[in-house]
Amino acid sequence: MTIAVYPGSFDPVTNGHLDIATRASRIFDKVIMAVFDRPISKQPLFDVSKRLALLREATQDLPYVHVDSYTILTVEYARQMGARVILRGMRSQSDFEPEFRMAQINRTIAPDIEIVMLMSDHAYTSFSSSTVRELASLGADISWLVPPHVTAAVENIYGHSV
Ligand code: ADP
Repeated sequence: MTIAVYPGSFDPVTNGHLDIATRASRIFDKVIMAVFDRPISKQPLFDVSKRLALLREATQDLPYVHVDSYTILTVEYARQMGARVILRGMRSQSDFEPEFRMAQINRTIAPDIEIVMLMSDHAYTSFSSSTVRELASLGADISWLVPPHVTAAVENIYGHSV
């Protein structure tokens, strides 16, 4: 059984994240979307438990996709979950540099774990959680970027619906 851990902030989950998870679940036996629960310098939109709840609802029809959070090194978490793969999504050349650096570090400290990148579908290349947060804060429509229940949760925070 090949398990992949798909780590991220998922603040909030977008249709781009879900496309990567859906496609990965056709390759791996189990995909764990794992929210990295750490104190981050910038203020998150949602706390980890809300991000998990939004992820759970978004993946309820994806039987091979599971949702979890973790606080330790990603490679250590992957080992604990019995995963041999860390999955990441790649949108553009600007994603490449930091992902490549992180993959090199992870390979050095955990040669038993493979880092696998899936290229974004062209429909989702411009999608990011930060775009969702920025558009929503300015009152713009985000319903094309995220599932309906995420749109509702984000609009609830900004106190308006568009
Ligand atoms: P992080 O803070 O770790 O970058 P994110 O939640 O922003 O977490 O993203 C998690 C992973 O999903 C990253 O590998 C990121 O490149 C990838 N990703 C984000 N948005 C998309 C998208 N629209 N298409 C494909 N991959 C994406």
